[in-house]
Amino acid sequence: MEHELQRLTTEARDTLATLQDIDQLEEFRIRYLGRKGHFSTIMRKLGTVSQDDRPRLGQLANSVKAEIETLFKERQEILLQDRKTTQKETTEDLTLPGRKPALGRLHPVTQIMNEVCGVFEKMGFSVAEGPDVETDHYNFEALNIPAHHPARDMHDTFYISDSLLLRTHTSPMQARIMENREPPLRVIAPGKVYRCDSDITHTPMFHQVEGFLVDKQVSFADLKGVLTVFTQKMFGEDLALRFRPSFFPFTEPSAEVDIACVICKGQGCRVCKRTGWLEILGCGMIDPEVFKMVGYDPEVYSGFAFGLGIERIAMLKYGIDDIRLYYENDLRFLSQF
Ligand SMILES: [Zn+2]
Repeated sequence: MEHELQRLTTEARDTLATLQDIDQLEEFRIRYLGRKGHFSTIMRKLGTVSQDDRPRLGQLANSVKAEIETLFKERQEILLQDRKTTQKETTEDLTLPGRKPALGRLHPVTQIMNEVCGVFEKMGFSVAEGPDVETDHYNFEALNIPAHHPARDMHDTFYISDSLLLRTHTSPMQARIMENREPPLRVIAPGKVYRCDSDITHTPMFHQVEGFLVDKQVSFADLKGVLTVFTQKMFGEDLALRFRPSFFPFTEPSAEVDIACVICKGQGCRVCKRTGWLEILGCGMIDPEVFKMVGYDPEVYSGFAFGLGIERIAMLKYGIDDIRLYYENDLRFLSQF
């Protein structure tokens, strides 16, 4: 019996050392330490040995079983630890590249605004900005649009009070700057403007760039030269453009500038309404009345002014036919630019 105990202990110890996973360990526990296991069988046999040997053998059997139980727990600990480590390795692959943080970028309208200003700055224009909340005086009166003038109907104005409004164009900057500075002047004034209008080609807020040049002996040829360079820089060198007579109260003569349709190249399509031309800006020679109001002598000075809508330029440049897309904040749309 003593011999059998020793043999069983050696066997159990050796087997334990070879076990590789938790399932094998469980099998071992049932086979050696379970109720019907080898050690239990030996314990039961103790009843058959002589009275003299029984205490000594009982003690031996208990200490051997305790030793195997301790070894079993140690092995269990090691295998559980191993399993945790492997699980960690499979869920966290440290060789994977890191996640890139989403980068912000400039709104397409801001990009076009910067591009437009950049073209004029290269031609010597300086940039000036004015208030969005404007007085009736600068928005209309100083631009030769007195009260009850029919041209006021062209502007669907947001009034704040009788004399305050949200500017309907960036042209008030002409008067504001000319009042405080002497010619020669070459200025562009980008900014937000507001009109009570909303459909596929209009939003209540949009962006304009106003530009003007005042000096001695400025002619319509200078205006044509500057705007030709501008449209070519924005849309390409071989682009056709035409000046079409128009009317603005603060310029005389006035014109609208069309470029050959960038979609159909002048063949006629839905965007250009089959005409082959797209209107991109309004311009003209500054009206002598405007000069008089800011104290310039129209006999000495002449100049031209132009205004263009940034959203319109952006729509033509990117071939987008719904202006509202720019303001719906849909990243799938905005991240294309
Ligand atoms: Zn077209």
